[in-house]
Amino acid sequence: MKIVLLGTGDAVGTPRVGCSCPQCSHARQTGRERLRTSLLVSECGHNILVDTGPDLRRQLLENGSPRIDAVLWTHGHYDHFMGFGEFYRVQKMPTVFAPPPVMDYCGKIFSFLDFPPVRVGEYEPFVIHGIEWTFLPVCHPPAYTCGLLISAGDVRIGYTSDTNRNIPDRTREALTGVDLLLVDALLPGRLHVPKHMNYEEACELAEDLHAADFRCVHLSHLVPWDLPRLGRDGEEFVF
Ligand SMILES: [Zn+2]
Ligand SMILES: [Zn+2]
Ligand SMILES: [Zn+2]
Repeated sequence: MKIVLLGTGDAVGTPRVGCSCPQCSHARQTGRERLRTSLLVSECGHNILVDTGPDLRRQLLENGSPRIDAVLWTHGHYDHFMGFGEFYRVQKMPTVFAPPPVMDYCGKIFSFLDFPPVRVGEYEPFVIHGIEWTFLPVCHPPAYTCGLLISAGDVRIGYTSDTNRNIPDRTREALTGVDLLLVDALLPGRLHVPKHMNYEEACELAEDLHAADFRCVHLSHLVPWDLPRLGRDGEEFVF
């Protein structure tokens, strides 16, 4: 199984339009970017996308133009599903898997596209092309949001999606001991917002869950470029 971080940015990406903070200035000088957070998971020639953000077209072009067999949506925020229309007239519309509240919301917005929707309940494992997936509710008020456990053989990968630190106990148990945790870290350690974790909280969660390795994702432009364990756009993990 291979996992590629197609993007590691927050809802607006880095550089942020109109911003001249140190991180955005560095981004403009070097061409470095954080596109909106999304994962490409590949197994035996099949490609599965976790979230379809507004940078989807560029992310696919920059990562070998894979044909996508299936999509999973974690929640109905613009930066996680609004790129889905990029499949139109490019390939057969992929099957989309999502928890019912997420499918109801996002499916309505894409009602002009003909795609096969599959509603999957939280904590109910299901298999796509040899990979087992489980939607795990997190805490990202007010949007109903699920992280994911991704399992193939004895490898287990956790993705928190967007969440604050109040993750339900059952979800924490499911994510305990993963080989790799991809964890929301929107802000530097000194800053707090109700919907997301900051860098320190993300590192603490990875330690609490005894994750063998972890990367922070969903990073805003306020997060410096050089902290340890930050995910990079295009970073690959092979298991
Ligand atoms: Zn987001
Ligand atoms: Zn900035
Ligand atoms: Zn969100």
